[in-house]
Amino acid sequence: MNGATGPTGRDSDRRVVGSAHVPAMRSVEQHLADVLAKIRPLPPFEQHLLDAHGLQLAEDVIAPRDVPLFDNSAMDGYAVRRIDVRGADQDNPAVLTVVQEIPAGAATTTEIGPGECGRIMTGAPVPPGADAVVPVEWTDGAADGTVRIYRTPDEGAHIRRVGEDVRAGQPLLSAGTMLGARQIGLLAAVSRDLVAVRPSPRVVIISTGSELVEPGTEPGPGQIPDTNGYTLAAAAREAGAVVYRVGVVADDAKLLLDTIEDQLIRADLIVTTGGVSVGAYDVVKEALSGLGTVEFGRVAMQPGMPQGFGVLGPEETPIFTLPGNPVSAYVGFELFVRPAIRKLSGRQDGLHRPVVEAVCLAGFKSPAGKRQFVRGVVVTPAGSDGRIEVRPVGGSGSHLMGGLAQANCLIAVPEDQTRVEAGDVLPVILLDGTPPETAASAAPASPEGPSNAGER
Ligand code: AMP
Ligand code: MG
Repeated sequence: MNGATGPTGRDSDRRVVGSAHVPAMRSVEQHLADVLAKIRPLPPFEQHLLDAHGLQLAEDVIAPRDVPLFDNSAMDGYAVRRIDVRGADQDNPAVLTVVQEIPAGAATTTEIGPGECGRIMTGAPVPPGADAVVPVEWTDGAADGTVRIYRTPDEGAHIRRVGEDVRAGQPLLSAGTMLGARQIGLLAAVSRDLVAVRPSPRVVIISTGSELVEPGTEPGPGQIPDTNGYTLAAAAREAGAVVYRVGVVADDAKLLLDTIEDQLIRADLIVTTGGVSVGAYDVVKEALSGLGTVEFGRVAMQPGMPQGFGVLGPEETPIFTLPGNPVSAYVGFELFVRPAIRKLSGRQDGLHRPVVEAVCLAGFKSPAGKRQFVRGVVVTPAGSDGRIEVRPVGGSGSHLMGGLAQANCLIAVPEDQTRVEAGDVLPVILLDGTPPETAASAAPASPEGPSNAGER
């Protein structure tokens, strides 16, 4: 598996498709490279510890102090001079005078002299003179007066020494580390309250289409629920973004431009869907073409051929205009927007989904001159010695969400392959991490496999 390749992970993918086949179409790699060249990682900023949770550390943290800060007791018991309790046992207990009580947080302690001890609690500072702590279970537990001690502790027993966990000046966490609970805990333990982190990119999602209504609203005649807004909001979140999903925008160029302008203030990246074909009402194209900073092109892929990308506003905020069909929008997001979000968030690695080679269990047709991304279910059958298998799922229509929801990968069929046969080995983009192990081979694919008439 290779976690740092392009959308299919094969060298042959860098091949430029013959221009005789597909004039004016760019390869997936070319479009991705153009996009990524325009994305700059967001600058780091200081955050309070809890707000840094889940973000990427942007500094090398050196321990500013020792942990523990002072010698302290690991047990509730008695701080003793070991010499005073040597040889103590059940029949011959050592008898010591309890001269002080030392709770956790005690600011001062007094020196333990010969024949003396201090009643000490877990986490309390070990007083001068004491060189071991006897757990209360080895004693008669007296609170004051004298205490009987029935066993001899080892030298230094139950004392947590200054700096034994972390030494001042030692490297603690390196830039690039994702701050989870354990790392946040370590920073707190060395008393850091602010750390430099990369912010989560703020991604604004705008669905265009006069036919769209909110899920939960009964669709009227000709209306459909906004699917893309939710798919992409969730996908952007999974990519590590803070997401603002703007409600549906009707097919009105002025309304769309106003909406985008309003959103620029809080966006590190904007995604629109719909309105990029050549039909009437293709408002995204209409609204943004005139600005001159957003390019609408065709990428040699299916689904998702119409791909617009550019920058907007004073901050040169990147904007992606994805096609309206839900699967096209999702595939475009996976291939181009997700890597852009990852780059914005400052990731050196992990820009791309992992790609594996898998044996395809069913044959199907594939369009010439375009890389086809086919929804699939990838598995590692038990007893297959790690052989990975994939079967296409659902049809290839770019409106078919049922199959997409079952899929855990996209099978990338090369541009020059017009027919996939059962048994062919193809690169597969993993959408959910490692392929799950299964007891049996995957279920049979649909007999026709995906068809691809008229998809974009
Ligand atoms: P368009 O590119 O705007 O012509 O949209 C292409 C197809 O995708 C049409 O069938 C639209 O109804 C559909 N579509 C566009 N946006 C969405 C959306 N947000 N949710 C579901 N379907 C959509
Ligand atoms: Mg539309």
